[in-house]
Parts: sequence; C-alpha cells; structure tokens
Amino acid sequence: MTDLRMFLQSRPRRLRRSAAIREMVRETVLQPADFIYPLFVCPGKGVRTEIGAMPGNYHLSVDRLVEEAAAAYEEGIRAVILFGIPERKDPEGSEAWDPEAAVQQGVRALKKEVPGLLVITDVCLCEYTDHGHCGVLEGEEVRNDPTLELLARTALSHAEAGADVVAPSDMMDGRVGVIRGALDDAGHDQTILMSYAAKYASAFYGPFREAAGSTPQFGDRSGYQMDPANGDEALKEVALDLDEGADIVMVKPAMAYLDIVSRVKQTFEVPVAAYNVSGEFSLLAAGGEKGWVDRDRLMLEVLTCIKRAGADVILTYHAREAARALRRG
Ligand SMILES: [Zn+2]
Repeated sequence: MTDLRMFLQSRPRRLRRSAAIREMVRETVLQPADFIYPLFVCPGKGVRTEIGAMPGNYHLSVDRLVEEAAAAYEEGIRAVILFGIPERKDPEGSEAWDPEAAVQQGVRALKKEVPGLLVITDVCLCEYTDHGHCGVLEGEEVRNDPTLELLARTALSHAEAGADVVAPSDMMDGRVGVIRGALDDAGHDQTILMSYAAKYASAFYGPFREAAGSTPQFGDRSGYQMDPANGDEALKEVALDLDEGADIVMVKPAMAYLDIVSRVKQTFEVPVAAYNVSGEFSLLAAGGEKGWVDRDRLMLEVLTCIKRAGADVILTYHAREAARALRRG
C-alpha cells in the first residue's frame, strides 16, 4: 500500500471529531437577536386569525399584536416588522398614511408596552390600493415620481407614531432619498432607513399575497421589481440606495439569492438584511407536515446559511420557533 503520510499532510476531519471541537471552530453562530419577526396587524379587537398558507402566522388586532410581540421579546427576539391590513382600499392607498390606521396604532402600542423592542414598519402602498400595485397608476402603468410623495407621507406617519426603522419595499426609483429628506425635514433624523434595495419579482411571495391581500388586480410587478436573472443590477440598486441615505440594505428573497447577499456584503461592507420570505417558509412548513423533511433541522440550516452568506439580519416567519430551538441547543 502507498504511504499515505506522503500526501495526507492535512486532515480537516480532526476538527470535526467531537461536538466540542466543532462548536469551538464554528464560523457562524445564529442567535435570536439576528431575527426580525414579520407581523400582520389588522383593525378590530381580539382578532387572531391564522393565515391559511402560512401556518402559525396570524392577522392580529393591536391588542393581540402586543401579546405576540411581547412573547417573542421574552424569547429573545429584538425586532418586529409590521405589515398593515387596511379597513378600506382606494386607488391611492390613502389608509397607508392614516395616523389612526392599524400599523400606526400598532407602533404606538408596541413602543409603550414593549419598550425594548425595535419596531420596524414596511412602507408600501400595495396592501392599501384597490388595484394591488405598489404605486399610483396611469392607465395600467405604475407611475414612479407621483408615488414618491405618497411613500414619504406613509414613512413619516410611521416615524411620527414612533417607529424606530422604516423599510420601503416598493422599488420605485429615488424613494430612499425622498423619504430620508421628508423624515429629516420633520425632525426625524434618527429614524433608521432599511431599504428593500434588491427586491426581485419572485414567485416565492405567493403566500404573503394571501396574508396581506395584496395580489395585483392585473399584470404583475416585474415593471418595478427586479428580474431574478440579474445579479450586477442588484449591486447598482444597492449603491443607489446607499447614496440616497439607506442605513441597512435588504436582499429579498433569501434562499435562492444567497449569491446576491454575498456580493452585496463583500462589495459594500454595510449591514445587510435578507428576507426569508413567505414561500420559503411555507415550502418548509409543508415539507415538515408531510414528514418529508426534518423541519427544525432544515429551518436552522437555512437560517445559518443565510447568515453565513453575509446577512447580518434575517427577516423570517420562523423567528419564534428558531429562537426556541436555539435555546434548546
Ligand atoms: Zn408593495
């Protein structure tokens, strides 16, 4: 037999031999504070209605939202992002900036009842417009520039309610700069801006549309969201948002877009968020229900890999169950 010592100078398996050594040399360690927990807030009282395609996620009225967020905080979650379910919809989506709408009420309640929690708001119009698009229409065209003022108005109403972070998700050109200007002019220069910088037109959003009632009534969003086939373009979008004043930039979705997460992190060296979206959650949940995959293991693997790729922050519907699983060790 050949003398293996000649070429087996390195034996990487030495560092995998026991749990103790693996733990010692582990490069990426997931923690509950990495997560942002998305929550859907609706009008009413005592409402906690499960979302069909996203088991374990709910439409919550403000009182129930506070309970859910407080429980998550107890489990180590430090941030939530709120999506609003409106009472009424119109062509402009005017309930988006109504100071008495569910999101604005939810922000005020959370800042009062769970003061340590970072409260983030999604800023967009698609949940609020009767046509389901993210901006103002002219015919069937989503108009960019007239939409900017409405987004700024919405972000400002969230900041005024006390939001720590506003997160525009519409993908209109120039919206980060316009929102930053509007916040600064109104004295909210400490409000953090997390932009959905590289948001792709993805089929992974399917279950969310049921959750938020935001399916476009005609056409799709590929006129403003990015083509999944493009990578360089993501860097351009991120560069623009950073120039306009974004503090944190997001890549959405996460799992099939880890190359983008990695390129953004390595290119810009700023805090990067990745959104582990509804379709990613639902596929895993369904696979687990069928008994085809080990849900807990797969969930922690996916989340760890998103962090390893370069995400500092992960928006995920798994936040609470992942926090509990991490505690169990
Ligand atoms: Zn939208």
